[in-house]
Amino acid sequence: MSVSTKVEVLPEVAAFLDQSPFAGFVGGREFPAASGELIATIDPGSGEKIAEIHDLDAAEIDKAVDIANEAFPAWSGLSQKERSSILRKLADAVEERKPILAQIEALDAGKIEAQAAGDIQNFVDTLRYFVGLADEVQLRTTLDVPGHDAWTFKQPWGACAFIFPWNFPFLLIGWGISPALAAGNTVIIKPAEDTSLSAIYLAHLAKEVGVPDGVINVVTGRGATAGSALTNNSKIKRMSFTGSPEVGQLVGEACGRNLVPVKLELGGKGAAVVFDDVDVKSTAEALVGAITFHTGQVCCDATRWLIHQDIYDEFVGYCKDLMQDIKIGHPLDPESQMGPVVNPKQHERVLGYQTKGKAGGAECLCGGGPAEVEGYEGNYVKPTLLAGSLDNVAAREEIFGPVAYLSTFKTEEEAIAKANDTDYGLANSVWTKDDDRANRVAEAMTAGNSWINAHNVFAHGVPYGGVNKSGMGGGVLSIETLMDYYRSTSVVRPL
Ligand code: NAD
Repeated sequence: MSVSTKVEVLPEVAAFLDQSPFAGFVGGREFPAASGELIATIDPGSGEKIAEIHDLDAAEIDKAVDIANEAFPAWSGLSQKERSSILRKLADAVEERKPILAQIEALDAGKIEAQAAGDIQNFVDTLRYFVGLADEVQLRTTLDVPGHDAWTFKQPWGACAFIFPWNFPFLLIGWGISPALAAGNTVIIKPAEDTSLSAIYLAHLAKEVGVPDGVINVVTGRGATAGSALTNNSKIKRMSFTGSPEVGQLVGEACGRNLVPVKLELGGKGAAVVFDDVDVKSTAEALVGAITFHTGQVCCDATRWLIHQDIYDEFVGYCKDLMQDIKIGHPLDPESQMGPVVNPKQHERVLGYQTKGKAGGAECLCGGGPAEVEGYEGNYVKPTLLAGSLDNVAAREEIFGPVAYLSTFKTEEEAIAKANDTDYGLANSVWTKDDDRANRVAEAMTAGNSWINAHNVFAHGVPYGGVNKSGMGGGVLSIETLMDYYRSTSVVRPL
């Protein structure tokens, strides 16, 4: 088990990886799989095994949920000041270890190291944001109801479960668990089996800085066993799932049977609508930047580019030049601008959609196929532009790779209709210098998020979530998210 000798890792990262195989971390201690079954963790940039994680079974997951519930009274019983102080220490500790966590994330998820460092900082900012909100939130609200002395009172739920995908492992943990912890809930985290290392590191770090045992628990294992057991456990008080719509439906069904409130953050097939008054070059730069960011493995990405017919040729020209210049390489190589996709299955999926798209009539404008990176056997693909009918499979289904699908439009109405012709509803963007038109189109596109003259915009305080096939049950990143992690009791005394 070793990191490719061609990349240099920090001594702390090497020492961490030397502790493999990694058990889960529950109740303040290591939580191994009794079966001894292990799952390999592969560096997507080199194809080499860097660690192994324990594959927990259903009974072990149930035990973890019990432990998280047992830790709840003490954690929720702390004053907000005490709880916030502990969580701020955790945010500080993560920030101090940012270079270590960034390398672990880069090696585990195939993320460019600088981007991984951005994800770690985002976790820190998210935790501080929600702790700040929880410090100020009013939990008791007096109701002005004639003939009654009445109020509502909010309190945390108990043990909350979280299942995460592999594309933003640490950032999404921050988005998920921060409001839950700040509100006084305990959490059980099930990271993706491909990318569990940063979650395990976090659990150990939390113990080190004084987060009480059983408050932050990490269970490792496969989706169909460990994930499914967590989803089907009737003792979890809330479930949050981020991942594919297919698995989201299974999670929703299981939670529905147990009447456990569930939040689903699922996939997308977002559009970018580009009008003819834009600065063509800078818009091309922004959209090529978006589709190649984390090798296109971004749920809210702009994957359907709808370009006004009068600027189409000029726009495509710039995009081709930009894409051809992108330096593809290992995530820890400082020269790399785009890394690999996460695993061979995803590699096959991205290339498969290119093949199916072309077979269905799409034209390949640039890129296409695998990319070679000298000295590495990683899962590399070329950034790709396809074009043609929007009925094409590559224009309709989520590819989750650096592949954009282009089409043209003439009128605003046509652009809106094309943007909305999808089963998904996560995020779209509109690009124009005309503010009135931008506002109109942004509000007319059916999705949880509409961005103007930008794509992939996340600010703490702006709710982020999906509609239709992209999600349900509330979003993330805002005061509403914090409120989701309190249950409400109405107290009434007739006068
Ligand atoms: P996935 O659905 O295959 O897996 C996500 C998680 O679910 C993993 O931890 C996996 O182990 C677990 N899982 C798998 N089968 C399960 C089951 N039967 N029961 C319970 N858990 C199970 O998704 P993925 O391939 O890891 O991630 C890619 C998907 O995630 C894309 O569709 C992407 O758009 C979506 N995503 C959405 C958001 C968002 O905020 N809306 C963010 C990131 C990713």
